[in-house]
Amino acid sequence: MVETLTAEPAVAPADWVDSVNPATGEVCSRFPATPAEALTQIMTRARRAQTEWAARPVRERCRLLQHFGERLYARRDEAAALVTREAGKPRVEALFADVLTSLDAAFYYSQQAPRMLRPEAVPHHNPALKAKRGRLWREPIGVIALISPWNYPLAVPLGTLLPALAAGNAVVVKPSELVPACGALMAELAKEAGAPDGLVQVVQGRGALGAALIAAGPDKVVFTGSVATGKRVAEACASPLIPTVLELGGKDAMLVLSDAALERASSAAVWGGFTNCGQACRSVERLYVERAVARPFLEMCIQKTKQLRLGDPADPATDVGPMIRPEHRERVLRQLEDAVARGARILTGGRPRSDLGPAYLEPTVITDVTPEMSLMRDETFGPVLPVIAVEDEEHAVRAANDSRFSLGASVWTGSAARGRRVAARLAAGSVMVNDVVSYFGICEAPHGGWGESGWGRTHSRAGFDELVRLKYVDTDALPGVPKAWWYGYNQGLLESAGHMLETLFAPRWDHRVRSAARSARVLWRRGRV
Ligand code: NAD
Repeated sequence: MVETLTAEPAVAPADWVDSVNPATGEVCSRFPATPAEALTQIMTRARRAQTEWAARPVRERCRLLQHFGERLYARRDEAAALVTREAGKPRVEALFADVLTSLDAAFYYSQQAPRMLRPEAVPHHNPALKAKRGRLWREPIGVIALISPWNYPLAVPLGTLLPALAAGNAVVVKPSELVPACGALMAELAKEAGAPDGLVQVVQGRGALGAALIAAGPDKVVFTGSVATGKRVAEACASPLIPTVLELGGKDAMLVLSDAALERASSAAVWGGFTNCGQACRSVERLYVERAVARPFLEMCIQKTKQLRLGDPADPATDVGPMIRPEHRERVLRQLEDAVARGARILTGGRPRSDLGPAYLEPTVITDVTPEMSLMRDETFGPVLPVIAVEDEEHAVRAANDSRFSLGASVWTGSAARGRRVAARLAAGSVMVNDVVSYFGICEAPHGGWGESGWGRTHSRAGFDELVRLKYVDTDALPGVPKAWWYGYNQGLLESAGHMLETLFAPRWDHRVRSAARSARVLWRRGRV
């Protein structure tokens, strides 16, 4: 047992959630599982805290984010070490992908939320409605249930938790049962930052607790995880009409066109396929390269993959750590076996490395894969880079779009204009030209997709808008004037209404002008109710 992030309860709980080191299989700490029966009380506390929180000025709410960022910065090395120990990613990746992105989110939203929440003028285009002033307000939703996965155990939940707080919500976080220590760390940071009691509550448990949290009636569910669980969440939320954001799986395609800088593109392919041991929703899971450059490109990918150091993620020199659990490795191995049985060729890697630990798998480059293989259709979520040679750009686009997923994609080319032209044709929520994966770390970039990648967005202004209720408020600038469309209908009004339509929409301008004077009568007609 390494660290204890929560006090041991006075009464032994009925159930525990273990924090396991995926590199060794060792149980490092454990956390009392939250009983489902406690959720009613947890929701009540959250509601009470939210009412008081929403009444505070936005700038005061943003100060909490600022303090959260300061506390995370002060504990950055400890946080990165914990992510490495619990999720198995190399320390550099823990620092970049979890700690840096979370810090950036804290400071970005603490600065931007006041602007994002400022009432927005809604000018009316219709001249007949010019005397009405429209405003869009963004109000808190209430209690958000945040159900998150294990693979970016700080970055994914904090990317929603922090803006949700700035927007005036309370949040109940259900981290993945595979990363309870990271969940406990978030609770600690919120407390150290000065979050009022009940505003941020972290519940520890497995899928059943996530389902019970939804049944407890939050005002919105922001879920990130697998397609299968996402569908269950959508079903559970359908009957009580709880709105959802679903950030699900991906099968991102990388398109390498013949004018691409192959050295850079191959380095990106290897990193994009194997970062976090391929366990990223935005991993490169399908690579289409134009046949003219396929041979040298593939050779570079193989050489660079062979150079990767697989090992203990706590060692600074390690490039690739273990997968999260042995059963996850088994799932990937089954996909590889199926592909090989159907004619695919593994060019490097592909072997389980149980000599290193229970869940290690060599980074794998594979070719001669075909669209009907599970490896090409289903999310792999492991260190596998399938490379497919295609005739030309047209074939690359068609193959990339042949997927149930649509999270992200990338295009590699020497021409930015060509890159954007291809991006326009790709079915993906985000497309990077000459880079992979990294848009997840750009606060201004919306994250999400459609199809089996889910719906809604996180991050950016678009993600922020998922955490507020839009209220349109209309103020009449001529309150003393009764409206033309109110009761008191008669032949005169009918004619004036006809003239008004002509004024607004007649195809000829002279016709519009002639009708204008007659339609104006509608404004001072008598006999209104
Ligand atoms: P998962 O679906 O197994 O679990 C996700 C969370 O859902 C966990 O907290 C789990 O306990 C909870 N859960 C399980 N059953 C539930 C139920 N019935 N009701 C409510 N909650 C339930 O996913 P995972 O293995 O933790 O994460 C990997 C998946 O997440 C991959 O598919 C990956 O692509 C996806 N992911 C997507 C994004 C994105 O932004 N699109 C980001 C990271 C990960």
